[in-house]
Amino acid sequence: MTGAGFGGLYALHKLRASGLAVRVLEAAPSVGGTWWANRYPGARVDIQSLEYSYSFSEPLQQQWRWSERYASQPELLRYANHVADRFELRRDIVLNTRVSAAHFDEAAACWRVRSDVGRSWRARFIVMAIGPLSTPNTPAFDGLDAFTGPVLHSAAWPHEPVDFGGRDVALVGTGSSGVQMIPLIAEQARTLTVFQRTAAYAVPARNGPLDPEREARIKADYAGFRARNRRMRAGFGSELSPHPLPTLAVTDAERQALFEERWQIGGFSLLGAFVDTLTDLRANEACAEFVRGKIRAIVRDPAVAARLCPTHPIGCKRLCVDTGYYDTYNRANVTLVDVSRAPIERIAPHGVVSGGREHRADLLVLATGFDAFTGPLTRIDLRGRGGLHIRDKWRGGPLNYLGLTVAGFPNLFNLVGPGSTSAFTSVITAIEHHIDWIAECIGWLAAHGRQTLEASADAEAQWVARVNQIAEQTVYPHCNSWYLGANIPGKPRIFMPLAGGFPAYAERCAAVARDGYAGFVTR
Ligand code: NAP
Repeated sequence: MTGAGFGGLYALHKLRASGLAVRVLEAAPSVGGTWWANRYPGARVDIQSLEYSYSFSEPLQQQWRWSERYASQPELLRYANHVADRFELRRDIVLNTRVSAAHFDEAAACWRVRSDVGRSWRARFIVMAIGPLSTPNTPAFDGLDAFTGPVLHSAAWPHEPVDFGGRDVALVGTGSSGVQMIPLIAEQARTLTVFQRTAAYAVPARNGPLDPEREARIKADYAGFRARNRRMRAGFGSELSPHPLPTLAVTDAERQALFEERWQIGGFSLLGAFVDTLTDLRANEACAEFVRGKIRAIVRDPAVAARLCPTHPIGCKRLCVDTGYYDTYNRANVTLVDVSRAPIERIAPHGVVSGGREHRADLLVLATGFDAFTGPLTRIDLRGRGGLHIRDKWRGGPLNYLGLTVAGFPNLFNLVGPGSTSAFTSVITAIEHHIDWIAECIGWLAAHGRQTLEASADAEAQWVARVNQIAEQTVYPHCNSWYLGANIPGKPRIFMPLAGGFPAYAERCAAVARDGYAGFVTR
């Protein structure tokens, strides 16, 4: 198994409990995955921690105490370490070990795995738990190497504290990572210049200490709460219901009142106010305009506010959950540079050049995201039957079946990858679902005397077509997001995650298992 983030930790626990010998190979010197790597100022989860946490162990979910509504990165990392200790996982985790190659040996029906320092392993099954957002995207800016100050990427942040005091900081990128760190850097830096290619929708997190009454209420029936969440499209948020009518079927006053109520609650609740926000462009515009109204009310300079107002549908790119983001642009030391029409021309030794002007900087922050879904796998020398490289298999987009498997790559399972609801689900809910399914599948193979399971090419083609058909019924194709690969120059524009909702997806996976792994070839 590759990766000791939240996916790898639970996979190790579950598969070991199923009687399998499991070894986890982790490139980092620590468990924690995303929460090990993404340690920029303000990094915290955007789904409430009582929901973004494991449900597989009742004692764990009862005993662990989150200090805030949305846990910070250090607390999430402590949680990952606690889980590793509590379930005695460390003895089967090999740290500082990056998997560089995995080849399927057809004669022996097993995987031969190699690390970058030449160690090797043999495995019947391989679980890729490397996370869909683990390959940082560093744009190929001219002159980047000649920049004289530090260049920090949000997803490969230094482990020692970064002192922004007295510095002129340039920051590129206004997705979730940029939106979280901009207010905190602005408080410390002498100046902060933000280079924005696409304006972001950000909703207030309303973070704060966890309300003990709410915690007690949820913990009184945690299993029931988790079950209700699993019936939600996103796998979380069951405490709030959408309005029974579509957005445009209610009066303006009623609509604004509900949007305002959700804005006050904070987080993703705004997108759940009405059922059609993500499927009807006119309904979506009502919600989008509500947020633009908030931006115009918060940001004092109308010209800056106008630049901060997004024009694409809300939720089309992942909604950002913030603390003081728009307010930051009222500070005298913060400048917003719009690079939507004139891209960054180059990085100079002491600044960033855009629109023919050099903006001085002695520290450059890249909050420029990830080569999502495909990047983590295609960077490995991963070869299935006939030596087929995953890069070649996925040249036109990430073919897969159920998001979990790839035809031609027997006994390989990919967690929270393309074709699953991963990006639209609370990821730990997705992880637990995937791993439970994988454990059951491996058990079925053993019970039926089969050595390998492999998606059929037909099942795979139909699945990918279905993922794209479902996306066509939503607002998602109407912007350039990492869901579409549109953030990476040259990447095929294919909608990768499944937008059909977690319950339908889980039911489909269960049905496939009930039908003796329909769509798979087993030998
Ligand atoms: P992202 O959403 O992909 O944002 C990257 C930003 O960099 C975008 O504003 C993008 O502009 C900009 N950018 C990329 N290349 C550029 C270029 N050549 N010139 C100028 N701007 C450029 O990445 P992210 O913020 O790291 O977030 C990725 C995902 O990670 C999130 O959507 C979320 O799922 C997860 N995440 C979650 C949290 C959390 O709150 N828990 C925090 C961080 C990340 P365009 O939009 O124009 O491409």
